[in-house]
Amino acid sequence: MSEQLGATSAGRGLLIVLSGPSGVGKDTVLRELFQLDPSLHYSVSFTTRRPRPDEEEGRSYSFVDDSTFDAMIAREEFLEWANIFTHRYGTSLERVRDALGRGEDIVLKIDVQGAASVRRRMGGDATFIFLLPPSRDELRRRLVERATEDPDGLERRWDTAVEELAEQDKYDHCVVNDDVRRAAREILGIIQAERAARRTGAGA
Ligand code: 5GP
Repeated sequence: MSEQLGATSAGRGLLIVLSGPSGVGKDTVLRELFQLDPSLHYSVSFTTRRPRPDEEEGRSYSFVDDSTFDAMIAREEFLEWANIFTHRYGTSLERVRDALGRGEDIVLKIDVQGAASVRRRMGGDATFIFLLPPSRDELRRRLVERATEDPDGLERRWDTAVEELAEQDKYDHCVVNDDVRRAAREILGIIQAERAARRTGAGA
């Protein structure tokens, strides 16, 4: 049973969920996607992890401490939240609801646990897309190349990536990131098809 997020009504925005294992290139593909279609909006998540040097408060994430995150859980301010590695990440219910209410199409970049929660709450009222690497070997290579992790961190990310890949069948669409521009165009095609279906009443 879907909740009152405004996603079902004609003229309301689309909720698009993008997941994929660490290292698959979600951020790069999303950057390209937002360039291709500047009308798309990004759901800025809350996280308890520290910002990386290139990250900006309120743009990459809203960075909060543990007690703030706890309070937000208690006030039921999250559409979903999850423990990932050693930190917590959550999607603001208010931000998503407001965007959909304004008729904006909003993209959530969340892990498979979060996507499962959104699926439970929203059912068919969201579009679920999984970004795949061209191969497992290639994903492993990309994770090693990132080399921002200590060896333990790398192995943990790899194990999680393998677990995440096993969830791909639960998604409406799988897109292979063999080429950033091509993958972004394929995702845009999926979104355009959803918009068209919504207009003609053939959608969810
Ligand atoms: P990173 O720390 O590398 O930015 O993100 C780690 C993982 O957290 C990624 O798989 C990303 O998709 C996921 N993530 C980011 N924001 C959220 C969120 O709000 N909810 C959930 N469930 N996962 C998130």
